[in-house]
Amino acid sequence: MGFESLLGNPRLKENLKLSLASGRLSHCYLISGPTGSGKRTLARLLAAAILCRGAGEKPCLRCRACRKVLAGTHPDVITVDDPEKKTVPVERIRAARAELYIRPNEAEKKILLIPRAQDLGIPGQNALLKVLEEPPGYGVFLLLTDAADKLLPTVRSRSTELELSPLPKDLLIRQLKNDFPQADSEVLSQAAAQSGGFLGAAQALLEAEPDENARAFAACVAQSDPVALLRLLIPMEKWKRDRLIAQLQVFLELLQGALVCQAGLPEPVPGAKEIGARRDGATLLRGVEALKKAIEYAQGNVSPAAVCGYLAYALR
Ligand SMILES: [Zn+2]
Repeated sequence: MGFESLLGNPRLKENLKLSLASGRLSHCYLISGPTGSGKRTLARLLAAAILCRGAGEKPCLRCRACRKVLAGTHPDVITVDDPEKKTVPVERIRAARAELYIRPNEAEKKILLIPRAQDLGIPGQNALLKVLEEPPGYGVFLLLTDAADKLLPTVRSRSTELELSPLPKDLLIRQLKNDFPQADSEVLSQAAAQSGGFLGAAQALLEAEPDENARAFAACVAQSDPVALLRLLIPMEKWKRDRLIAQLQVFLELLQGALVCQAGLPEPVPGAKEIGARRDGATLLRGVEALKKAIEYAQGNVSPAAVCGYLAYALR
């Protein structure tokens, strides 16, 4: 089986295959690439390859060890994260470090998997360095990051970097056609272009559902319903500035998307097509201008309540 289920990246896969076959594994891999580039897929395959008990090419993806890694239940893979926290808490790193010094349960190696190494913070990286500098012989580190430059040079210099590359366009489109058989081929090409060549990013674009507020906003604008708009905006007056700005940007993308649809191009965000079909271009342009101004106000010193008040008036 090997690394086939990771698309593209032929040189990286060949190098890994060679080091696995010769038993010359690095004790720390830094897997880097943007969101949706396959970092987790590669980490899972590499962890399976390291712990695989099957015969032949590794990972076999069929033996018990491989299946446990794929299911996320292998006792010798320790994941270090707390998705609730912006920065991975340093206590988690210290706990994982202590756990790594206990010999593996059922494999020859024990893997410490850090899914977002860019969020370790400096104290976290220093805590990690302590074990990176003197790891137990059976320890392997898999660090994943979308920003390798956020890591300390001392961490990077101890790692073998595996950088994921964008896929060739034809390969990416072929896979997307397979994953989204119902989708229009122009929509697929657009997602492929917007994704920068990364499969996961293109899939996320095609799967994106508008959030509840964006859906409500699209309905208000499409139906030209000022009362519903007011009902939508009033609770937003109490929002924190950052949240309000992010939401207004989603609204702005919707109206800009409606103009794109009117130009006969594929729908860039769900909901845009319906707005484009119901409102004329001049109204949409006024809406775009109003939203841009509201975002500018919110980024400045205007209170969220005043920004929402302005919008209710400008979009009425
Ligand atoms: Zn296996």
